[in-house]
Amino acid sequence: MKIVVLKFGGTSVGSIERIKKISKIILNYVKKKYKVIVVSSAMSGVTNDLLQKTKKISKNFSTSEYDVLVSSGEQISCALIAGSLNELGYKARSWLGWQIPILTNGEYSQSRIFKIKTKEIMKYLKTGGIPIITGFQGINLENRVTTLGRGGSDASAIMCAKFFKAEKCIIFTDVDGVYTTDPKILKKAKKIKVISYEEMLEMASLGSKVMQPASIQDARLNRMDIDVKSSFIKKGGTLITKRKNILSSKVIRGISFTKSDAKITLIGVKDKPGVAASIFEPLSKNSINVDMVVQNISANGKETDLTFTIKSEDLNKTQNLIKKNKKIKFRNLIIDKNVSKLSIIGVGMITTPGVTYRMFQALANKKINILVISTSEIKISVLVNKKNLKQAVAVLHTEFKLER
Ligand code: ADP
Ligand code: ASP
Ligand code: MG
Repeated sequence: MKIVVLKFGGTSVGSIERIKKISKIILNYVKKKYKVIVVSSAMSGVTNDLLQKTKKISKNFSTSEYDVLVSSGEQISCALIAGSLNELGYKARSWLGWQIPILTNGEYSQSRIFKIKTKEIMKYLKTGGIPIITGFQGINLENRVTTLGRGGSDASAIMCAKFFKAEKCIIFTDVDGVYTTDPKILKKAKKIKVISYEEMLEMASLGSKVMQPASIQDARLNRMDIDVKSSFIKKGGTLITKRKNILSSKVIRGISFTKSDAKITLIGVKDKPGVAASIFEPLSKNSINVDMVVQNISANGKETDLTFTIKSEDLNKTQNLIKKNKKIKFRNLIIDKNVSKLSIIGVGMITTPGVTYRMFQALANKKINILVISTSEIKISVLVNKKNLKQAVAVLHTEFKLER
């Protein structure tokens, strides 16, 4: 059996018109003799609306009920797709995560799929049916509904491709592939024809939301090739695959950025062993993700300054935790809400000297100040003022010749 998994994102199923349009895409694969498994996200905006409702009820909305609620958008889109295919004369039905079931582990709102039972759907495929599977959701070992983190339908599709042994996994979205940077920010951005799991994982983790980071980890672990394509226009997309399959030797593959970071600086912290641990312990206990961290060398041996970044949405909580923390003493707390983390990514930088210098010099030439720096083997990140973001992306895009 030649199986293909087709995943449709929010804008691809964002209206009844769109659902009719993607029904035609699905049928193109049926006509090519594929057994098609469809995975769909909620109609665009629906998950956000549901999430806002929880905030109006409580700041501490139950995490398990959160998952029941926010996963409900996928039920709607899948029923509409199945209905649309029925209307065109094809056998199709929706499948919710628990009906399959899609088994997950981990915390609510950020669970991971570890198994998908395939028996019923395989039977259905053999009778010529088109199963429409809700993305983003599963159940845990307590039989409760779970979700896979924002953008999690990507992971649903990739794990379906793995468990159903699909020949192809195609992610249909509103752009015609993965670009060198978000094409909404830089018109000159260029489509990347082939990208490695490692580079895609870094780009996704560093802010390029075209693919969910966890889904790329799943793809890499299972060596699943992924095609990213547009559901709006017919054009070649991007192949995400293993490094060995990639011939081109670009130093930098892409540029990613975040838009909602905040920087916190503690001035005049008593410099003694364990102080950093005391600052970060309550943050970690409250699931606040600390990203970039810099501690200055203490000039007088007694006091130091410590800077770190978090997601803006965690700012209030973080401020409160620091103020309440009796284990630490500091003179002043400085908050900067207008920062963005900008990163250049590429496996080529491992073997190419001078990349860091070129990045810093290019930004300096435009008088863009760097606030914090962090690096890993295949990426360099800098924190800049949000007002400089667009220009900084453009400058680095040119510096590393990404438009070629
Ligand atoms: P879907 O609803 O189909 O899952 P998403 O909104 O999650 O779609 O992801 C697609 C969006 O990702 C695009 O509209 C684009 O603005 C954004 N994006 C960010 N970085 C990139 C990039 N490097 N390449 C392509 N798209 C990107
Ligand atoms: N609907 C979910 C979200 O908005 C899952 C997805 O889009 O992949 O996060
Ligand atoms: Mg998405």
